[in-house]
Amino acid sequence: MFKKFDYYAPKTLAELFELTNENNEAQILAGGTDLLLKLREKTTPHKMLIDIKKLDNFRGIETKDGYLRMGALTTIREIQASKIIREKYTALYDAAKSFGCLEIRNRATIGGNIVHASPGAEFGTPLFVLAAEAEVIGPDGTRVIPIHEFWQDVYQVDLKDNEVLAAIRLPYYEKMVSRYHRLSRVKGMDLAIVGVSVLALDPANIEKREVKIAMGAVARIPFRNKEVETMLSGVKITNELLVSVKEKLSDSIAPRSSSLRAKPAYKKAMVGNLTEQALLELGLLEEGE
Ligand SMILES: Cc1cc2nc3c(=O)[nH]c(=O)nc-3n(C[C@H](O)[C@H](O)[C@H](O)COP(=O)(O)OP(=O)(O)OC[C@H]3O[C@@H](n4cnc5c(N)ncnc54)[C@H](O)[C@@H]3O)c2cc1C
Repeated sequence: MFKKFDYYAPKTLAELFELTNENNEAQILAGGTDLLLKLREKTTPHKMLIDIKKLDNFRGIETKDGYLRMGALTTIREIQASKIIREKYTALYDAAKSFGCLEIRNRATIGGNIVHASPGAEFGTPLFVLAAEAEVIGPDGTRVIPIHEFWQDVYQVDLKDNEVLAAIRLPYYEKMVSRYHRLSRVKGMDLAIVGVSVLALDPANIEKREVKIAMGAVARIPFRNKEVETMLSGVKITNELLVSVKEKLSDSIAPRSSSLRAKPAYKKAMVGNLTEQALLELGLLEEGE
């Protein structure tokens, strides 16, 4: 059972900020797929819910000034259906495809996934390798924050009481490929045990190629190992190199032993395997070496 709460659905930013300015404990409601569970479990105070779904400036996927802007209310289904995301920002498409079930994908939003900031959140690692930025809006204006700074800790993001996440910005690179892979306990619907995103800029030009790898559900927030990225950038990626990369990736993480979904040793072994799978699919692994 839910406790009683007030419900508002502002139609303009002015109405939104009037409500958030006066009510520090108000909760923003997007798709509700995380929030309503928290409200039912009474783990979140909720005297007031502010439903942002009527705010049009938080919607839509558009290219703008050299980046892709994805409104915070973009649903997972809309991400999965977007041609530009599938072709250019493929790791996001992969994440959308792996996400929950059709009903949840129709309702859940990218903004809610980011602000909820669960360690295994599907979009954590793709957004990190894609160098995404959070566009945050409040009564004093807009702040643009690199996504890895926006996530501060488990369930904690850089948002003041009267601010909301308006959109995600993704830089555009002409030559960019990326993939995301995750493992879960069951084939049906379950959160990721571990997830890995791999991105390469200028993939066909070995000398200039830049590789990025982010791992999810292995630390409090998504994690990148810069040493491994340097090892893989600007060189032929051979099986020999891959062996030491997998070792270094495994050594660099210390997943918590209290995780419900998998033991640390399993996660440590799997980050390398998921990385290999993505490198193979992106055509970055030298054949027969
Ligand atoms: C059955 C089921 C399956 C699921 N499967 C997955 C899965 O496979 N992968 C995965 O990562 N997650 C999964 N989830 C979790 C959840 O669906 C996602 O985290 C989802 O993206 C949350 O988005 P939402 O719009 O529903 O957020 P909401 O529940 O509306 O909000 C979540 C939190 O973010 C805040 N918030 C939302 N939008 C904004 C904004 N624009 N500005 C400021 N604050 C905001 C809310 O106040 C709340 O604290 C699943 C959940 C369920 C119930």
